[in-house]
Amino acid sequence: NGFAALGLDPQLLAAVADLGYTQPMPVQTQCISLAMAQAESAGQAAFNDLMVSSQTGSGKTAAFLLPVLHTLLKQQAEAEAAEEQAYADAVARGEAPAKRARRNPVNTRHFKPAEPGALVLCPTRELAQQVAHDAIGLVQHCKGLRIANVVGGMPYQMQLARLQNADLVVATPGRLLDLQRSGQIKLDKVQFLVVDEADRMLDLGFADDLAEVHNLTAQRRQTMMFSATFAPRVQQLAGRVMRKPRHIQV
Ligand code: AMP
Repeated sequence: NGFAALGLDPQLLAAVADLGYTQPMPVQTQCISLAMAQAESAGQAAFNDLMVSSQTGSGKTAAFLLPVLHTLLKQQAEAEAAEEQAYADAVARGEAPAKRARRNPVNTRHFKPAEPGALVLCPTRELAQQVAHDAIGLVQHCKGLRIANVVGGMPYQMQLARLQNADLVVATPGRLLDLQRSGQIKLDKVQFLVVDEADRMLDLGFADDLAEVHNLTAQRRQTMMFSATFAPRVQQLAGRVMRKPRHIQV
């Protein structure tokens, strides 16, 4: 499978194979390798910001989902290993019993705002639902990764239930900001921000919402913007939400 050479997590490679993808499409090869490469920015290692011009049908959805999901998986594994190590050290010091107590089940009656690590913004509800559907297909073998969809015109309660533990949220900007303002979601843990179909986002008047969402996300953050064109107004928007983005044209 041509995806293996890109260094993706085996759980994602299994999903890609199940979906019948054998070779990465050009936008996928470029995005996955560039998005996963650390760039030195302001003296701190960070992931590259990307500005990608690509059409619907080019495979752009997997091009941004795969590197984001890969990095979320890697961070989860590292956090788990650190926790295991800390526990083993505590056992070695005689401060913890060798047999670890089972964790208390999460009490879902207590409200806790969602704190996703990754956010995909889409101009329309239909696109957001399609992207969330693709993401769910790609995480089918990942036990720990949860996807939630936040769009207008859907039952609020249903979305909130899924949202609480979501790692990756796919949203339209208006509904997302409603949830943020009412305290249902916090965006300061968002390290991966994807803006899909940025040109349509501008057509629909979402420029200010987008900038507002961007300002609420983490300081150390990777932004990837996808657009059918690099028109000056798209470039201007890119200037508001990215630092020295790498350009990819396919
Ligand atoms: P998109 O441009 O993201 O809307 O993707 C267009 C279509 O291509 C979708 O139906 C995907 O499921 C499919 N697709 C994405 N990547 C691949 C791949 N590497 N090989 C075959 N099909 C793919």
